[in-house]
Amino acid sequence: MKKILVNTDKHQYDIHSLFKAFLGNEDVKVITEPNDDESFYAVIEIKSVNKSDLSDEGNVTVRLEDGTESEYKYLDEFNNGQSSISTNGEKADKPDTSKNAVKKAIYTALCKSTGKELPWGNLTGIRPTRIAMNLIDKGQSDEEIAQYMKDTYFVSDEKIKLSTFIARREKEILKNIDYLNGYSLYIGIPFCPTTCLYCSFTSYPIGAHKNIVDDYISCLEKEIDYVAENFKGKTLDTIYVGGGTPTTLEPHQIERLLGYVRDKLDISGVKELTVESGRPDSITREKLAAMKKMGVSRISVNPQTMRDETLKLIGRRHTVSQLIDSFNMAREEGFDNINMDIILGLPGETADDVRYTMEEIRKLSPDDLTVHSLAIKRGSKLYEVIHEKEMKGELKVPLFESINNTEEMMRIAYDGALEMGLEPYYLYRQKNISGNFENTGYARKGKAGIYNILINEEVQSIVALGAGTVTKRVFGGGRIERCDNVKDVALYMNNIDEMIERKKILFNL
Ligand code: SF4
Repeated sequence: MKKILVNTDKHQYDIHSLFKAFLGNEDVKVITEPNDDESFYAVIEIKSVNKSDLSDEGNVTVRLEDGTESEYKYLDEFNNGQSSISTNGEKADKPDTSKNAVKKAIYTALCKSTGKELPWGNLTGIRPTRIAMNLIDKGQSDEEIAQYMKDTYFVSDEKIKLSTFIARREKEILKNIDYLNGYSLYIGIPFCPTTCLYCSFTSYPIGAHKNIVDDYISCLEKEIDYVAENFKGKTLDTIYVGGGTPTTLEPHQIERLLGYVRDKLDISGVKELTVESGRPDSITREKLAAMKKMGVSRISVNPQTMRDETLKLIGRRHTVSQLIDSFNMAREEGFDNINMDIILGLPGETADDVRYTMEEIRKLSPDDLTVHSLAIKRGSKLYEVIHEKEMKGELKVPLFESINNTEEMMRIAYDGALEMGLEPYYLYRQKNISGNFENTGYARKGKAGIYNILINEEVQSIVALGAGTVTKRVFGGGRIERCDNVKDVALYMNNIDEMIERKKILFNL
């Protein structure tokens, strides 16, 4: 455990995230009130600005246990909280905010001490494309955006290029959609063939829950009735059925659910209807035909890796050959927009495995590819299972060397996607993401998932139905309010009226 002492309770989330990004698997704790005998990996002092003295500067110092020091000044109270460019130890033309000064001081000290730099610099947020987007909106050129991201956040050239490219592509894709006045619909199906060991979603094995699926759909229909009543006159732009694995539903259940959506809602403005068909072991020709009949325009068939032994290790319970059969079947049924998800940093996998996966995926030629970075936390179910296998000598690569995504793997995936004719169109980061990288969606021209951009950039209200889903109301001007549906499927079904009531309150604010 690395303890960080800070003299105020400001910016604790950013401080914690930045130390975690450098220290990886180490636990990090930020402390403001130390015990007498405690020792600290880092001590941070934030001196506030004296508001009655207009020439006063704020100051941040970071001292690490190995003697490394870093110091930054700031003047944010006089700058209305506008972040801008500063240089270490000097008063700048445009002063920093205290938050930027804290992040710069920590980042500089940790770079010196560890000899490491992070691809996203000191950015701790999950939507780095937002920065580029805001600057594009202000009319800044790519060069000006690059300079700003470098000076303020120390982002690498490669990631600056990626986020600027994506921000411009997103703007182009959304340019004809009146997203603030429309809405999108998310429908969650919380059932899967089996539960993958790394799963962090709401998921119940379908085998043990088959008997409640029809009642679950009845609850979704109640929520759809609410949407039909309350969103009259608004354009429904995209529909996304996710989970879970929606293709655990039987063909007649798929038709029932999507038929209800089509009957009750005005779908004349819908630009995309996605159904995640993630697990190949849940896909049948009849289900594909049912989805096609109901107007599904985009599906995902997810390999995660093209190595059978890794699939077994992470509890996916399907084979690569099943994946290939399902993908080909979807093409035969007429699907011309198929997404695939892969994960980098899977246990036991090396850069060569990623290269192999990309080569095999290239043969299938998907229209859209999402590259995720997996973070396996100590103590998680997957970690424990893999650790046990390592103890038995069943791993080809030691666990600690293999649970991190690397720059080489990211490069292989990036180059591989471009070689398939796919270009990046959205990205997001997660807390504790492996290698401090990002998840990136790539797609062919005209095949990018619009819903993915809308939800990721938080520019449109998304009404979410089903257990464990989160509805977001986007007001514009940066204001966003949320309401949750409970995760537990039985609780959701027993309290469906309350779930609807929560939405009513949110949309009547
Ligand atoms: S398929 Fe996805 S949602 Fe289902 S158990 Fe696996 S990771 Fe979780």
